[in-house]
Amino acid sequence: MSHVTFIYPSVGRNPGTKYIRSWQMQPLSIALLSSLTPAGWDRTFYDDRLEPIDYSKPTDLVAISIETFTARRGYQIATEYRRLSIPVVIGGYHATFCPDEALEYADGVCIGEAEGIWAEILHDASKGRVRGKYHTQNRFELKNILPDRTIFHGKNYFKISLVETSRGCPNTCNFCSITAFHKGKYRSRPITDVISEINGVQANTFFFIDDNIAGDPARAEEFFTALMPLNITWVGQASISIAANEKLLELMAASGCAGLLIGFESLSAENLVTLGKHINKTNNYSKALRAIREKGIAIYGTFMLGLPHDSKQLLDKTISFSKKEKIFLAAFNHVVPFPGTPFYQSLADSGSLTIDKWWLSPDYRFGQSPFSPECFSASELENLCFKARRNFFSLPSIIRRATNFSSNCNTLQKTFLYWSINLLMLHEVRKKHGIPLGCPGEGEFWHV
Ligand code: SF4
Repeated sequence: MSHVTFIYPSVGRNPGTKYIRSWQMQPLSIALLSSLTPAGWDRTFYDDRLEPIDYSKPTDLVAISIETFTARRGYQIATEYRRLSIPVVIGGYHATFCPDEALEYADGVCIGEAEGIWAEILHDASKGRVRGKYHTQNRFELKNILPDRTIFHGKNYFKISLVETSRGCPNTCNFCSITAFHKGKYRSRPITDVISEINGVQANTFFFIDDNIAGDPARAEEFFTALMPLNITWVGQASISIAANEKLLELMAASGCAGLLIGFESLSAENLVTLGKHINKTNNYSKALRAIREKGIAIYGTFMLGLPHDSKQLLDKTISFSKKEKIFLAAFNHVVPFPGTPFYQSLADSGSLTIDKWWLSPDYRFGQSPFSPECFSASELENLCFKARRNFFSLPSIIRRATNFSSNCNTLQKTFLYWSINLLMLHEVRKKHGIPLGCPGEGEFWHV
């Protein structure tokens, strides 16, 4: 019997500190990989965010899934396994965008979605010849997917079950890794497959991790209708265009939607043009929010700072807007130049990146801007983002937003969620700020 060890790396942390609780959700990608692993392979899974890695446990292959923020930690773990002469394969979004870089730390790199190539990688591993780049095309149909959640047993995750019903987004915003990865294509799973998966999970609160749950409105109508008899509560992500579709909003609410993450990005129309986010219309934000609120659906609004048409006045206006609209949660982050996106390339071409491969830098800290913004200095931008978060998650702001009885605190369950999540965020604003990527100090492999 061969043995594969799956690793989900953390972003990083300072030694002796606990990992950010709101970043501890089940990594569905690992459950998918496990489900694709044939009989004849034993599996071990270490979630670096929750538990120590036992490097001494024998294994024939280590598979590490990385995103840009977890790449450095993933490479550190890979380096340690390879020092022990254990072959490593690295996959995920970041490995797809930077395969040559990932190959410096691994024996093999999976480029694209693992479904198309995982069996071949395992076959090569069983022959002792995992080598080089493994390409897939992300074009297969999303049929018969059933994540193996047994891999999560015994791990203390944030109490929400993740399900994926579709991949990709039909929009093509130029800063977005999803667009870069899926090339603007949207694919969905058969609704019967999703319903049967939900029925098999012992939970009634779900996070549909789709990049855009309403990417195909006709399919979304059908899906929400099929969800209704299940009597579940769910949250998901959508673009703001959903607000103009009254029928879809109604079905969404009736199917148990408690909240939606929506990328507002900016209150400046010029900034939205820069980002290529043409579906957002700033003069429509309040109307859209009202329409969603009226259906009892809470909003997690995300805003980006550091764009060419920003100013301190615009930032103040953005914070006031999110408080006045009594948004359930909000994120204020500097725009992140993810490799593989046109946005990253334009910063690189104009010489605006101050740290080229910021995700590899031992000096980079979470919240730090790796480029020179046009309107502020990089450190001003970092401070402004931090202050915006502290302002939004201050106690007076939380109390004020709790008086949104239409969608934040419209049921006992939502009221409980509202207070627990907002107080958690209040606590975590400071904790998240300045987290290193990976473990501090080259060559150290500290454990939780
Ligand atoms: S709408 Fe959201 S998910 Fe879709 S491309 Fe734009 S940023 Fe990405």
